[in-house]
Amino acid sequence: AGEYGPEQPGRVIAHFGRTLEVEGEDGVSHRCHLRANLESLVTGDRVSWREASDASGVVVARLPRDSTLERPNAQGQLKPVAANLDRIMIVFAAEPEPHPNLIDRYLVAAETTGITPALVLNKVDLLPSEGGPLRELLTRYQRLGYEVVEASVNDHHGLEALRTALTDHTSVFVGQSGVGKSSLIQTLLPNEALKVGALSEESRKGTHTTTTARLYHFPAGGELIDSPGIREFGLGHLDEQAIAEGFIEFHPFLGRCRFRNCRHLSEPGCALLEAVERDEIQASRFDSFRRIVAELET
Ligand code: GDP
Ligand code: ZN
Repeated sequence: AGEYGPEQPGRVIAHFGRTLEVEGEDGVSHRCHLRANLESLVTGDRVSWREASDASGVVVARLPRDSTLERPNAQGQLKPVAANLDRIMIVFAAEPEPHPNLIDRYLVAAETTGITPALVLNKVDLLPSEGGPLRELLTRYQRLGYEVVEASVNDHHGLEALRTALTDHTSVFVGQSGVGKSSLIQTLLPNEALKVGALSEESRKGTHTTTTARLYHFPAGGELIDSPGIREFGLGHLDEQAIAEGFIEFHPFLGRCRFRNCRHLSEPGCALLEAVERDEIQASRFDSFRRIVAELET
């Protein structure tokens, strides 16, 4: 149809099948359809689109993705669920207490996506004002080079630091149920954004069984992409090599074992085992690595 305006950049902020909600550079969202020759898009995709005279539009191209978050569908195939993220905020808390290698599992999963993870220790109101095993844990990750933030929704501790960490990034919040992801998100997002999200969820209930992700703007800048499915993001099917690479401090030692097919169990000349001996790799992280690999084999 000739009534479309010129191509302009936009970002997918939600989608319902092949109907997309695209935010133009003016910050206004437009209901768009996807040109027939294009593969389906996901929330966070950058697109080129054209506006129609009635303010709806058509998406004519998808721009290259910087990153993709994938999840297995019902058939076990990995499918993209969100694009162009650059922060995975891994939330944990004193309650529910994290399993020993839970954080490592999230970190490995994040590392394999190429999206930078950061750790949020929430509910610090439940901790003594200083110290304790969870803070020690947090410090250990900080020493590995990860950005870490302490927070409490209840007494608003650390929320400024969290806002700063989120500014200028597109983030997702992941973590075990009950650690406070919804509470954090509700505190960080203005009511308007959440209302829009709730409404769309209502309106798509009748027609679709899966709840797709939605992009929200933080008032101080930066975006959040959220959906129940994304919050459950975890370790998919990875091989041993990918898991080893998910432990960032292992990198200098990978490929340096005496045996090329070293499984880092008890082989002589294993560079990883030697690094643990020399305290260059934390024993707890190495144990975690082995546990994750062992779970693969069961
Ligand atoms: P989600 O499952 O990760 O989304 O967790 P929710 O946001 O639903 O929170 C689970 C429970 O933890 C709720 O009862 C919250 O009120 C509580 N909670 C959330 N943040 C905090 C916090 O900072 N301190 C304390 N003490 N409780 C919190
Ligand atoms: Zn080895």
